[in-house]
Amino acid sequence: MEIDNGNHIILSANQNFLNFCRLINSEQTLNFFEPKFNFFDMHTKNLWSIKLNNGVIPFWIMKKSTRIPGTKLLDYFSLFKLFFCKEKNTVDDLFNKNTKLYNSFWEPITLGILNTQCNEASAKLLLNVLKETFLKGGKFCKIIQPKKNWNETLILPAIKYLKNKKTAIHYNTTLKELIIENNFIRKLVFSKDEIKINKSDRVILSTPLGLIGKFFPEVKSPTENNTILNIHFKIRIKIKKKETPILGIINSLSHWIFIKKDHISVTISAANKLNHYSSEDIARLIWSEVKKSLSIKKEMPDFQVIKEKKATYNQSPSNIKLISNIKILPKNLSIAGDWTQKNLPSTIESAILSGKNSLKNITY
Ligand SMILES: Cc1cc2nc3c(=O)[nH]c(=O)nc-3n(C[C@H](O)[C@H](O)[C@H](O)COP(=O)(O)OP(=O)(O)OC[C@H]3O[C@@H](n4cnc5c(N)ncnc54)[C@H](O)[C@@H]3O)c2cc1C
Repeated sequence: MEIDNGNHIILSANQNFLNFCRLINSEQTLNFFEPKFNFFDMHTKNLWSIKLNNGVIPFWIMKKSTRIPGTKLLDYFSLFKLFFCKEKNTVDDLFNKNTKLYNSFWEPITLGILNTQCNEASAKLLLNVLKETFLKGGKFCKIIQPKKNWNETLILPAIKYLKNKKTAIHYNTTLKELIIENNFIRKLVFSKDEIKINKSDRVILSTPLGLIGKFFPEVKSPTENNTILNIHFKIRIKIKKKETPILGIINSLSHWIFIKKDHISVTISAANKLNHYSSEDIARLIWSEVKKSLSIKKEMPDFQVIKEKKATYNQSPSNIKLISNIKILPKNLSIAGDWTQKNLPSTIESAILSGKNSLKNITY
């Protein structure tokens, strides 16, 4: 069966993503769900939702029946601390860990957005995302999922678009070396061939962060990465057509369950502690949580565990500072990639934005 390992949550605030889909003509492959985030609490066995209203005033926190169970209106004023955070602050510097709001809101959204534990995650980066999403209201937080999979929404239409523009794609050849003379890239050495760079050519390097350290050892860049672990179970679960096919889980090892057509996927962010666990052990632990949260009685079905050990860099204040200081690159080179957007976390939105910004950054 075909498994899409990218369990991506995209929100309607992601304008660069939406523009990109428009450009490559794949908008019709998207499903938009209402701005309702469903959660299951593994301790209390409570199923509850955050349903955002339109507009900047969050009416959902005013009523006991719509706010997060066990929280008081006053608790939400802690948000103001985020507005006054400093570059060096982590999420844990701002919020009290022993509160229901931390456990049911700050921690799951930090892990989901930054793929970094709260004691290391940059508060500023979280604030920047919230300003564009939750704080603007429900219109900006509709949940976007592909009707079929991300391959059909992003990859195949993008390849078609490039082919129509007569852009050649060279598969299975790895960039091994950059030949630099007088601060200009003169040659790209790939595993299969070489490309000479003429005076009028420009190079955009859109590779993972790790390669910056390899090609430019004198540049200090982050070296700590965080795992996103996905586990796919071969089981069909039926849900109502308009219901969001995503369930957040708290007080658990699992973070999000994605209900797909012929399987379900469980995502665990900042999952470095599971790097050395066997797939079998992880599957058993997670399946017991899935059974409880989706009220399933069945035995564990076939599964596939995928650990993406370098899903993102550890998005801490000190690492963001390192990214901001990457400047000394050759004059005909521009860099792109999710990690280059120092004011935003490493996401699809940032990756697309970085492509646009990389063109602006070509100064030579
Ligand atoms: C499991 C998982 C879940 C995620 N969930 C979300 C989510 O919910 N929402 C969201 O917005 N984002 C999510 N992300 C992050 C998102 O997928 C990334 O931010 C985005 O794909 C990064 O795109 P990119 O083009 O910058 O980098 P990449 O997609 O990593 O592209 C880099 C490319 O460089 C190539 N490359 C590497 N080395 C070389 C070399 N030496 N020579 C030539 N090519 C090379 C690689 O093969 C790769 O194709 C998730 C990521 C993972 C792994």
